[in-house]
Amino acid sequence: MIAFARTCAAIAATASKLEKIALVGDYLRTLDDADVQAAARYFTGNPFPQAQERSLAVGGRTLIDAAVAMWGIDDAALAVAYRASGDLGAALGQFVRPSPDLGLFRETLTPSRLYALLVEIADAAGKSAQKRRRILCERIFSACTEPLEATYVIKIMTGELRIGLREGLVLDAVAGFARDPRAVRRAAAIAGDLGAVALAAKHDTLDQLAIAYHAPIAFMLASPIAYGSEYTELVSSAWLVEDKYDGIRIQAHVTPRRISLFSRTLNDVAASYPELVEALRALPGSCALDGEIVAIRDGRVLPFRFLQARLQRKDVAPDLLREVPVRLICFDALALDEEFLLDLPLAERRTRLAEVLAHADERTVAAAPWTALEERAAAETVHERFEASRERGNEGLVFKRTDSPYTPGRRGKSWLKLKRELATLDCVVVAVERGHGKRVGVLSDYTFAVRAGDDLAVIGKAYSGLTNVEIAEMTAWFEAHRLPPDEAHASYRRLALKRREILVEPSIVVEIAFDIIQRSELHASGFALRFPRIVRLRPDKRPQDADTVERVAEIYAEMLEREGMGDR
Ligand code: AMP
Repeated sequence: MIAFARTCAAIAATASKLEKIALVGDYLRTLDDADVQAAARYFTGNPFPQAQERSLAVGGRTLIDAAVAMWGIDDAALAVAYRASGDLGAALGQFVRPSPDLGLFRETLTPSRLYALLVEIADAAGKSAQKRRRILCERIFSACTEPLEATYVIKIMTGELRIGLREGLVLDAVAGFARDPRAVRRAAAIAGDLGAVALAAKHDTLDQLAIAYHAPIAFMLASPIAYGSEYTELVSSAWLVEDKYDGIRIQAHVTPRRISLFSRTLNDVAASYPELVEALRALPGSCALDGEIVAIRDGRVLPFRFLQARLQRKDVAPDLLREVPVRLICFDALALDEEFLLDLPLAERRTRLAEVLAHADERTVAAAPWTALEERAAAETVHERFEASRERGNEGLVFKRTDSPYTPGRRGKSWLKLKRELATLDCVVVAVERGHGKRVGVLSDYTFAVRAGDDLAVIGKAYSGLTNVEIAEMTAWFEAHRLPPDEAHASYRRLALKRREILVEPSIVVEIAFDIIQRSELHASGFALRFPRIVRLRPDKRPQDADTVERVAEIYAEMLEREGMGDR
């Protein structure tokens, strides 16, 4: 793995995408069949083909314990090393100490040899699985000979390579040695395994890759457009318009033997939705569909917070099935039997989708209704449709070009989403924390509060959405304005904060955007924000100008009213 590690270090050291691609390509070209498969996957950050649903299941603790056992690292030195990089691979890797007694019998860690050991770790099961995993980690570590090698082996194991390499760049590198470079992206979407694609590209057999059902395809995403007085984005080409559902994005893979429901994070969440699995069984043959799960009762879409009760439930009690009925609203078809549809224009994909769904019980699995948008649609027309979508309990609109292919993993201009910010809140920063990864050295995570009488009540926490320069400046300011220990001591309790949070003078006002407000026991304000984001610093405002708990309650009430739900 030394060559792999050196390649990674070189990739990390250059900002040029072309150079990164060339480095990956040059390295992959040197490898034999088994190694090219494994190494191509390592570059994507996941050592296993997605279709296999394997996961390493080895936590940071196991890696640390194994490294400590192999290389005798002391805790204090490790803490310092971790603080310096914020990365377990870099922190542990530097302690590599090749054990001399192994001598000639040392294993050489090639990409395929490492792969075999990783498979053993992932497949360890039963009572002694944990012990077995740890022994295997030790075995991998004992085969590492230099810090750089160990660093990157551990990075593969933690799933965080962090060398500025997106899957797209690895694909470009593989395309470099394919006869038809265009076939590579398509093959990757079909096969769900970059290792298999790299090997097929090498042997010029890309067209023989089969559709890998139950290996998720990256989702196509929509770009936001602003709610306004004109929609210049929509003047050229033909568009369809449909509701933007506020639910859970799902890609359903249906084959006679199995049904998977992949979430945005590409995890299979089928166990949480038995009624959807049941309904999808009625579909003929095999298919991969894209859509959104919403909670729906008596034909009306329920707000997202109802759906929350269904998230991550493995055993769904009959009561819950009745209380929060769900529907999968499908808006795309990606594959039907052995036919891959991604390259067809959307209009055709929708026709095919309607044909498949004709077999489903539409109360549980239905096609998303859509209408064609007339050419040069006036803003009033758009706004009428927007309001109609809100009336139906949905979030806004999505516009899709009818001639567009499905581009996995891209936030392109073929899908546009229109929603309206509820409101923003001006909040006071009361505590800060170090970030992770690149932000381990700066105070980039803020806990903020609204006014509650003469006091402050915490309402949320967000990673900074500020620029690097702003974060650096704010870090210096916060360092200089920590609360003195006696004041801090009292404030921890009053604000119900954790000890690792650094309390600061409550002077900085930040503007926070969010998706919705929820009632919550978590924070002293009694509310929490869903998806809070720091929009900007408000140096023009003083803490006494910040928003109040009453204002939060008001926005919350307006939200319930608009949803027509009342406070249930
Ligand atoms: P946002 O979460 O605001 O970035 O919006 C993107 C999300 O909108 C996607 O990930 C989908 O989950 C969701 N979405 C809702 N309705 C649709 C639709 N009709 N077409 C595509 N995506 C949709």
